[in-house]
Amino acid sequence: MDADKMRAVLRDVAERAVMYRSGRAEAPARPAQTYAEARAAFEAAVPEHGAPIEQVIAELASLAEPGLANMVGPRFFGWVIGATEPAGVAADWLTSAWGQNTGNAHATPASSACEEVSGRWLLDLLDLPRESSVGFVTGATIANFTCLAAARGEVLRRVGWDVEADGLFGAPNVHVVLGEEAHSTVFSGLRYLGLGAKRVVSVPVTEQGLMKPSAFARTIEKLDGPIIAIAQAGHINSGGFDPFTEIAEAAHAKGAWLHIDGAFGLWARACPDRAHLGHGLELADSWGVDGHKWLQTPHDSGYAIVRNAEAHRRAMLIAASYLPEGQERHPADYAPELSRRARGFATWAMIKSLGREGIASMVSCHCEQARRMAERLSAEPSVEVMNDVVLNQVAVRLGTDMDGATADALTDRTIARIQRDGVCFVGGANWRGRQIIRISVISANTTDADIDRSADALLSAWRAERHTNA
Ligand SMILES: *Cc1c(COP(=O)(O)O)cnc(C)c1O
Repeated sequence: MDADKMRAVLRDVAERAVMYRSGRAEAPARPAQTYAEARAAFEAAVPEHGAPIEQVIAELASLAEPGLANMVGPRFFGWVIGATEPAGVAADWLTSAWGQNTGNAHATPASSACEEVSGRWLLDLLDLPRESSVGFVTGATIANFTCLAAARGEVLRRVGWDVEADGLFGAPNVHVVLGEEAHSTVFSGLRYLGLGAKRVVSVPVTEQGLMKPSAFARTIEKLDGPIIAIAQAGHINSGGFDPFTEIAEAAHAKGAWLHIDGAFGLWARACPDRAHLGHGLELADSWGVDGHKWLQTPHDSGYAIVRNAEAHRRAMLIAASYLPEGQERHPADYAPELSRRARGFATWAMIKSLGREGIASMVSCHCEQARRMAERLSAEPSVEVMNDVVLNQVAVRLGTDMDGATADALTDRTIARIQRDGVCFVGGANWRGRQIIRISVISANTTDADIDRSADALLSAWRAERHTNA
């Protein structure tokens, strides 16, 4: 492709991206299309002939944009999704343009080196043991999986079993202990690893979804043989943290490997006024955390952090005669894939653009905004905030003066109405036997005014549904 044509195509894309992003603050938070409509728009047979790139890109944009959710907008509170900030987007564009296959340090020194240094920055920011290794993966699901693979290998190695070579058939039993309300993706990791999603030992949790330390200690006390324990930093509904110090003590007394799922909550450690929440989690053996949530990098970005770098390498090492070896850190040795994008660049750019201070103040600000939202909502009679708002999550129950079934049905209808109105986006969940509204404050673009406007929209949707029911 000639340089002029390439310039025209890439500049056109830059212009489209700017247009899209600059319209987000006032755009509806929900997609204009349903899945069926989006599916119909894209429906087409395999193109027999090629087409000019500018035409392809224009068509892609016009087909896709009506079905996009405004996840980068300031009032998107659904699930726990970062806002993909410009420094990360720009670095990610370069990453694509550079086209580095980031498996091996000799093949691509810059992307490997950038990962190594960004990994060190992460350990510093999250205040985790500096000897830990960091694998750059697609997200917390695969970060947890990667860490648990290291855990599985190490706890079995200690009893004389080489799972990397011999697999799990005939291996000593590995116990997996976790809280009753562990994130669903942790169970996916356990499934991939042959540890089974159902054969776990669940520990009872408090009203906030946190493991009861005495119950954890009693449970683990009774187990013999290799044990992997999994705790959580940032419960998906309450935002709460397991009592790590007590858990770590009981786990280590039994020689267990302690892993922490800290997809978003681990970032509390980077914020002086929230760091106390994660106190003691540095005693664990591994940690899974996301870049694409609180660090606001583009998707896919997660980090598998393992104190025992050898165990991490043993679990993930890809050895092949055609791959150069050496003393360097090879990115593929710490992640499940060989060929992949250079994930370190966007991480580096986001950390560099925010700085330690910027990350701390963003996290702090989101926590304050979550509290502001909770105060606004709970001032309404018949609305209850079910969680202690310690972090950025708000779990809201509607219809405290109604019977459960009516309240649940009205909650679902209120969520649908809020999404239709489009001022903000919230999702639902079932927690403690009730339908709830779950609000995650995590977009770098959210202002206090956005919180107030969203709280008003939520409450007016609730009043309207309540009224139609009366
Ligand atoms: C989001 C989340 C995950 C899964 O992370 P992905 O980045 O979506 O793979 C796991 N655990 C918790 C607590 C989460 O919030």
